Amino acid sequence: MLSEIRRRIADEAPIDRTQAAWLFENADDDTLSELATAVRDRFHPQGRATWLIMAIINYTNVCVAKCDYCAFYTLPNKPGGYLLSQDQVFEKIDALTQLGGTLVAFNGGFHPKLRITDYAELFANCHARYPHLTFFETTVAEFMFACKVSKVSYAEGARILKAAGTEWITGGGAEVLDEAFRKRHSPLKYRVEDFYDAQRAVLEAGIGSTATMVIGFDETLEERLNHLERLRDFQSEVGGLPSFLCWTYKPYNTELGGGEVSSREYLRWLAICRIYLHNIPTIRTSVLTQNERALEGLRFGANDFDIPTEDEVTQKAGAVIHHEFERILGAARAVGYEPVQRGPLARPALAPRPAIPGDGAQPSSAR
Ligand code: SF4
Repeated sequence: MLSEIRRRIADEAPIDRTQAAWLFENADDDTLSELATAVRDRFHPQGRATWLIMAIINYTNVCVAKCDYCAFYTLPNKPGGYLLSQDQVFEKIDALTQLGGTLVAFNGGFHPKLRITDYAELFANCHARYPHLTFFETTVAEFMFACKVSKVSYAEGARILKAAGTEWITGGGAEVLDEAFRKRHSPLKYRVEDFYDAQRAVLEAGIGSTATMVIGFDETLEERLNHLERLRDFQSEVGGLPSFLCWTYKPYNTELGGGEVSSREYLRWLAICRIYLHNIPTIRTSVLTQNERALEGLRFGANDFDIPTEDEVTQKAGAVIHHEFERILGAARAVGYEPVQRGPLARPALAPRPAIPGDGAQPSSAR
């Protein structure tokens, strides 16, 4: 099996899920590192990794989805629920810029009163005040819920955000995109195909997006592979996703509870992601949940990382954030990678639509 996998990687051919499962269960760490690095080096200069400083602004913790793995949310009209004012959001962005940050990501709950136009207004004001920053505005999951609250289609919701100047949202809120997993842990959040319908609508509106995954709940290897397989197929069919970020579940203060996966398992899974997702250029390793150990991910196929300054969602569940940026950069150098600060990632073109006679399909550059 290993020689066949080596041959496919040398030929720049995709491996299949059986091969991915075999590698994860049988290959030693050095082999996984070597194979993941071979795929990584197709896209990126050897010995170099990119990074930036970012904040995740949790603008509301009010949420009706009740995911059992979440330590962050508060139900509507319960003590402790909040919705940040615009000025409070600006204060957080100012704090980030004082730390040298260049990326602001928004992540909140499924607030039953926030319409897509409320998001659009906040984001438009952020763009006007901070034209030099990059914004990741909502996750796909929050975007879906805001469209539902607003009674608009995903296409219309994406058009409203685009008109407000939104350049990016993120594929956050994905965790494990497998229907059985979703039924076990977050049946009120969304269905998997619905998630991809929303992701497609965002991309087709000309907004950038990303892919994410979280491991370490109780998901099976089959469920993890279902996530990767559907994602890879989506990227082949639709295209447009420049990056994939995998992080690990933090179990503290959650209804689900449990323990944490080891850093070694995280690194091994990161290598599988890098090898299997042959059509996604950038693989990011998670400083947020792995701290300095995340930088070892550069030896397991990752080529990029962000250094977070705040994220209440993971901090409430046990993540620890330090502002010792030099220590993180030093950890990258210690594993042989020179860290280079970057701007926004380039957005890959959307894949051409299959030609259907008479439908007037446009080439990807026009979509
Ligand atoms: S993970 Fe997100 S959607 Fe689920 S309960 Fe927490 S805030 Fe709500």
